[in-house]
Amino acid sequence: MIDDLYQEVILDHSKRPRNFGPMESPSATAEGFNPLCGDRLTLELKLDGNIVADARFKGAGCAISVASASLMTETLKGKTKAEAEQLFEKFHRMLTTDSAVGEIGKLAVFSGVKEFPARVKCATLAWHTLHAALQNSHEKVSTE
Ligand code: ZN
Repeated sequence: MIDDLYQEVILDHSKRPRNFGPMESPSATAEGFNPLCGDRLTLELKLDGNIVADARFKGAGCAISVASASLMTETLKGKTKAEAEQLFEKFHRMLTTDSAVGEIGKLAVFSGVKEFPARVKCATLAWHTLHAALQNSHEKVSTE
């Protein structure tokens, strides 16, 4: 069952999040909060011109929010800012509509979250925070 495989990946990333912990001298940072669930994270980026050279996060939240941040930071490295924003758009579309989104790689493991609308904000929190960091906003992001 593909759903079981997806759940395994999410569980693995929530228990052993990748790119977790502080970064030395980040070039962009943003904080995100999802009051519905209590998920909180701080995202730090190292930008090399237009390229996301490194991404790390800190914080605490439910399994889906942590796994999403973990997989997002993995996916982002080496992407341009524009590619990162495109991925956010695809990811959001995958979770909120039935339209085909095309190639989304490992992020497809979150496709089942669409069936649980209350959890969509858990899965997209990291991405909303990324959007704020890329805009170089230092405002706190809330999904509400
Ligand atoms: Zn959550």
